[in-house]
Amino acid sequence: MSVFGRIAGGLRQASLLSARSRGVPTTLPWAPLAPARARFSDSKIPQYLNSWVEPEALWEYNDHMERTNRAKEVDAEVGELGDRNKAWQKETVKVDPEFFTRIGQGQAPKYLWIGCADSRVAAENLIGGRPGELFTHRNIANMVVSTDTNMRSVLQYAVDYLQVRHVIVCGHYDCGGIKAACSVKDHDLPLESWLSSIRDVYRLHKDELEAIDCEQERHKRMVELNVIEQCLNLFKTSDIQRRRRYTASRPDEFPCALPRIHAMVFSPADGILRRLNVDYRKHLGDAINIYHLCSRENFSCVVLYIALLGQTDRKSRNHPSSACAW
Ligand SMILES: [Zn+2]
Repeated sequence: MSVFGRIAGGLRQASLLSARSRGVPTTLPWAPLAPARARFSDSKIPQYLNSWVEPEALWEYNDHMERTNRAKEVDAEVGELGDRNKAWQKETVKVDPEFFTRIGQGQAPKYLWIGCADSRVAAENLIGGRPGELFTHRNIANMVVSTDTNMRSVLQYAVDYLQVRHVIVCGHYDCGGIKAACSVKDHDLPLESWLSSIRDVYRLHKDELEAIDCEQERHKRMVELNVIEQCLNLFKTSDIQRRRRYTASRPDEFPCALPRIHAMVFSPADGILRRLNVDYRKHLGDAINIYHLCSRENFSCVVLYIALLGQTDRKSRNHPSSACAW
């Protein structure tokens, strides 16, 4: 059979499958003589593509009325969300009649909040926040990954357009993402790929973490170290460096380099949000030459740069081969 013949045969089979899924009779003139093979019926284990997932679940609406009715019952579970929204909207208007008129005109949040996707740590809940206060980005284990276009787009928009004054990275104890990354288990793609960035944090702090005997305390410290590393990752982004340089060079307009970067940890066990004291100068000093974080032209970091220049030169003299040691 020619290539075109095979393609035409494939198209006929696809059309037949589509017609069957819609309940259309398949005894049409163009139906192939041999029965078409349903894509997933040949194997007991469906083979899903990593690039996309076939909407197999949608078939229930067409083929199985009994299952469709059960699905409707399950769908009805979200009805409570509508009821709760109505109650919340009513209460909000009662307290502040102009609230929705105000936020309907746009947003000007002071904070970008980067948090974990865990259902217990929604940012607004932790601080008793209201709509319009936080620009948020959440993912598994509150990661700042340079190749994550989702996170980078949120960061760019927050920094350049909303001009937030603070960026907060907030982790939480009992984090499933951190636990998964610290376990010896293949979670399959794409999750496993995501967890590898968390494992990098463990590798960087392996000595400190493995010196902690208590497993729970080790987990908590790993959560904190992960938050700190993600804050450092923020400093490595051009968005943060550009904005901080701009604001630091205009002391009449801005009190200091903005946005400020804050590390925080939330504990679901007691509901308390804690700040982590991070010596950014120390951490960034260690990484300044590796990532080219600052230059003579970078006003916001120029003092740090000059202070570190002598230290770097001394190191180079003492250890001539250190330039290529890593
Ligand atoms: Zn988490």
